[in-house]
Amino acid sequence: MILFACKNDAAKEKAEVKLDTTMVVEPKVDPVKYNIALVDNVKDPSCGMPVTAGIGDTAHFNNKTIGFCSKECKDFFLKDAAKNFTAVEWKK
Ligand SMILES: [Zn+2]
Repeated sequence: MILFACKNDAAKEKAEVKLDTTMVVEPKVDPVKYNIALVDNVKDPSCGMPVTAGIGDTAHFNNKTIGFCSKECKDFFLKDAAKNFTAVEWKK
């Protein structure tokens, strides 16, 4: 019974650690920030983070400048740029 409880706790702890890792992603943004005025999008289309939170990388596609929080998000976008482009939220 006790062993079962311990096992449960270990699993819980593991889940929490995993959550922490995902949450660390945001502060890891490249310190080199791009000017928000230079990008045409409102949110990072890959992760949904607002560009006002910081732009780590940009991509040019269809005459638009798209800002991303990180290179990883840009790479993700560029994997299927034509499709992802249609989901971008543009500045009004
Ligand atoms: Zn992102």
